[in-house]
Amino acid sequence: MFFKGFKGGVHPSDFKHYTKDFPIKEISAPDVIVLPISQHIGAPNEPIVCVGDYVKVGQCVATSAVFVSAPVHSPVSGVVKEIGTTINPQGIKVPAIVIENDGLDELSEQITPCNNLDLLTSEDIVRIVRNAGIVGMGGASFPTHVKLSPPPDKQIDCCIVNGAECEPYLTSDYRVMLERPERLVFGLKMIMKALNAAQGIIAVENNKKDAYKIIKENIDTPDIKVMLLPTKYPQGSEKHLIKATTGRKVKSGKLPMDVGVVVSNVDTCVSIGDAVEFGRPLISRIVTVSGNCFNNKGNYRVRIGTPIEHIIKEVGGFTSKPSMLILGGPMMGTTLYSTDVSVMKNTGAVLALGKDEINLHSAGPCLRCGKCVDACPMQLQPLYLMANCEIKDYEKLQQLNILDCIECGACTYACPSKRHIVQSIRIRKQEIVAIQRKVKQ
Ligand code: SF4
Ligand code: SF4
Repeated sequence: MFFKGFKGGVHPSDFKHYTKDFPIKEISAPDVIVLPISQHIGAPNEPIVCVGDYVKVGQCVATSAVFVSAPVHSPVSGVVKEIGTTINPQGIKVPAIVIENDGLDELSEQITPCNNLDLLTSEDIVRIVRNAGIVGMGGASFPTHVKLSPPPDKQIDCCIVNGAECEPYLTSDYRVMLERPERLVFGLKMIMKALNAAQGIIAVENNKKDAYKIIKENIDTPDIKVMLLPTKYPQGSEKHLIKATTGRKVKSGKLPMDVGVVVSNVDTCVSIGDAVEFGRPLISRIVTVSGNCFNNKGNYRVRIGTPIEHIIKEVGGFTSKPSMLILGGPMMGTTLYSTDVSVMKNTGAVLALGKDEINLHSAGPCLRCGKCVDACPMQLQPLYLMANCEIKDYEKLQQLNILDCIECGACTYACPSKRHIVQSIRIRKQEIVAIQRKVKQ
């Protein structure tokens, strides 16, 4: 099946040819793992190990009793060397557990495979997903068990796997869809079972027809279908994906569950399958390593807590000095100012871009050309949002629906004056949300 596109959006060069044909390889575990204690949206975790403790692969090392949280597990066996702080990709100091890897990969007794999948209840699946520390791995880091536990008045009838992977350079989801299609389908079945949902959809952009084909071959139930969507950025945004696949519109301020839908990322879905069947907690993920400056670009399985510096060494370093390092995609990712940060549960890519791949022009004045308005998939007015961000007019920004901005960066990409529109919006959005929270308290 093929669906009509949405209004707005852009068609950036996708640079997927750099890595799309490279099968997933394992990057060796580093000598030292630096594990941020909290890697989710919600209540912070507390460490449950002490300096000097011996920990095993998959052992829970930090958790919280609060429901909206996700525990963190050791990805290696070894000794807890330090409980201190590290810098996260945003440059903020966060609590972290440092583990010295003994290289033995001793498996924790906490990992228990499921003996009888048929006997699992919805509650069992939610509990397993919670204990495995699974969060949205597409960037949001929202605890998955919370998504799988909607309030009683929100009946979910459709579960969507987001296989659009519309960000340039990124090919990790594509490789997972090609290499583990049966696990993807199994993970989706577990999500549907947890939510008692009748319908499952795996949505793939039409530049990944081979993934579409192989997934289709692996579907063994009429309750699940795979759909091809037009290739356009940001096709993978939740609201656009839901509209394209179900025709349902998530209104301003509402959530997918308000229209009976839950959306999951590809790696998240596979991780749910692995947690349910093998008892495997979230201790590694697939990361695309790409950009002109990397020596051995590819798709790699990397343990959570691996320093970026280790990945750079393991792939043979750079061919030339990068002009910019990005964690995630070039449209929505975070510019890195230090390689001393670790791979987190939501790190989908590390990009080392040369000067020919980035915009080195300084921002010019607004030309009032309206290109940002045409590009905005949310039908906002980015030029006026930007103008009011500059003067911090919070009231006007809310009238202009700044909180509907999905921070896709299409406006910034389309702007001939290279104005930093999405960057300004992101900051003001955070400030407005903080103000709203304070008012509620
Ligand atoms: S205003 Fe927000 S939603 Fe619209 S294009 Fe810019 S970043 Fe995307
Ligand atoms: S695209 Fe850039 S220059 Fe054109 S109206 Fe928008 S902000 Fe102004």
